[in-house]
Amino acid sequence: MTSRSAFLAACAATALLAGLSTPAFAVTDEDIANDAATTNDVVTNGLGNQGQRYSPLKTLNRNNIKGLIPAYSFSFGGEKQRGQESQALVKDGVIYVTGSYSRAWAINSRTGEKIWEYNARLPEGILPCCDVVNRGGVLYKDMFIFGTLDAQMVALDAKNGKVKWKKQIDDFKSGFSYTASPMIVKGKLISGVSGGEFGVVGRVEARDPETGEIIWKRPVIEGHMGELNGKPSTVTGKTNETWPGDMWKYGGGATWLGGTYDAETNLIYFGTGNPGPWNSWMRPGDNKWTSSRIALDPDTGEIKWGFQTTPHDGWDYDGVNEFVSFDLKKDGKTIKAGATADRNGFFFVLDRTNGKFISATPFVANVNWASGYTPEGRPIYIEANRPGDPSKSADGKKGVVVRATPGFLGGKNWNPVSYSPDTGLFYIPSNEWGMNIWNEPIAYKKGAAYLGAGFEIKPTFEDHIGSLKAMDPATGKVVWEYKNKAPLWGGVLTTAGGLLFTGTSEGYIKAFDSKTGDELWKFNVGTGVVSSPITWNRTASSG
Ligand code: CA
Ligand code: CA
Repeated sequence: MTSRSAFLAACAATALLAGLSTPAFAVTDEDIANDAATTNDVVTNGLGNQGQRYSPLKTLNRNNIKGLIPAYSFSFGGEKQRGQESQALVKDGVIYVTGSYSRAWAINSRTGEKIWEYNARLPEGILPCCDVVNRGGVLYKDMFIFGTLDAQMVALDAKNGKVKWKKQIDDFKSGFSYTASPMIVKGKLISGVSGGEFGVVGRVEARDPETGEIIWKRPVIEGHMGELNGKPSTVTGKTNETWPGDMWKYGGGATWLGGTYDAETNLIYFGTGNPGPWNSWMRPGDNKWTSSRIALDPDTGEIKWGFQTTPHDGWDYDGVNEFVSFDLKKDGKTIKAGATADRNGFFFVLDRTNGKFISATPFVANVNWASGYTPEGRPIYIEANRPGDPSKSADGKKGVVVRATPGFLGGKNWNPVSYSPDTGLFYIPSNEWGMNIWNEPIAYKKGAAYLGAGFEIKPTFEDHIGSLKAMDPATGKVVWEYKNKAPLWGGVLTTAGGLLFTGTSEGYIKAFDSKTGDELWKFNVGTGVVSSPITWNRTASSG
């Protein structure tokens, strides 16, 4: 969908501030822990492991944004185009960014010139699900580390792009791949797995960033054994509690969007994908922990709490969307909360210390699979809008077709929200669409799509699909909305300068007033923008 836009988004939003390089390159645990507050670099996905995507910079603001002009563009080039969903990182005058087909670059932040390029040699027969994108890497010590479509984790020397280590995550022939940005937490490299539509079992894992060796693994599906320091640790949940028969063995729950981390609670938060197969009639029960948010202990990988946004998911609503820590001010109290805008169309606020449900509010129109949530946080299903059981049809081959909203692409898909502590609002890049969906019989087969469903996407409105919304997490009220004709597939950034940046499928990078939603600035880069913008400050020590 776009080629150079990820990078241009990064540049444009910085006002092209250039600086000096320093010879000794190292990203420390302190750099990572303080990333959200330090404006001279961006060393984490999400501008801080909490994932708020907020910058305290005011250099660019409501009053001067009109003067912003692009300085350079950098083409990801070659025959390998497709979507560029990577968030760039920047440290000591160098931008680090990944691209489609498992590629990575280091670029001089002053000139836009390439310093090095890494091209993963991908084997025949990879099963990228569901595109060949990459969503970024992580900087740690002298390394840039990212995952590839053939399910490898690769650590590159940040100075020259040479491979320092490379480890197999899992068997790509079974449908495993990796597209998310990993994360560094307390000196460990944390990542998940992609492959949700092939019946792979999702897991979160921790590695030693120096060697790539596994420290712990935590499968997210009930019944599977975890690993700690080379030995079996504990079983996730209780076998067959929420899954029938052997269905948990290929139960899905891919952790394909990576996670966030909050130092105050010392918890890693991960979303988990849809259960396999999509056909929910084959797996009665809640199917834990699919379509959920889970909190993990960074030292052991034990699950501390879980919250299922869509128990017994029958619509591929997944549950991977980012869980963003923030302090909720409500009824005169400050609550350690976290929020997430789910594919299923509801915006959730949870107590991030224990996963307790606080609220769920629809953020797109016509949500019809559930009418809301109980005070305990369980969806109130509208049973007529679950696709029908194919075994009840005349020929046993196709169940009743239903029109469900949102469609499986989600009220919001992977593209991350931003939270501004100045306005107290979440900014959700959402889409207004539904789907006709039906179920079919299916059996698990290694390396084959495991859906048992068919679908047709249907826009909800005639004049727009994309809808950027400012949501008050205390009240669930939409404070402002910007409607975009085409779908929104780019991430959002807010700043202390009162600005919100995002990209559109029409090729615009746009800036809005984060308080009012007024559009203040735009620039068309000539190709759709599907990545997440960053901003940083020129200082003597950075780029
Ligand atoms: Ca920083
Ligand atoms: Ca899915």
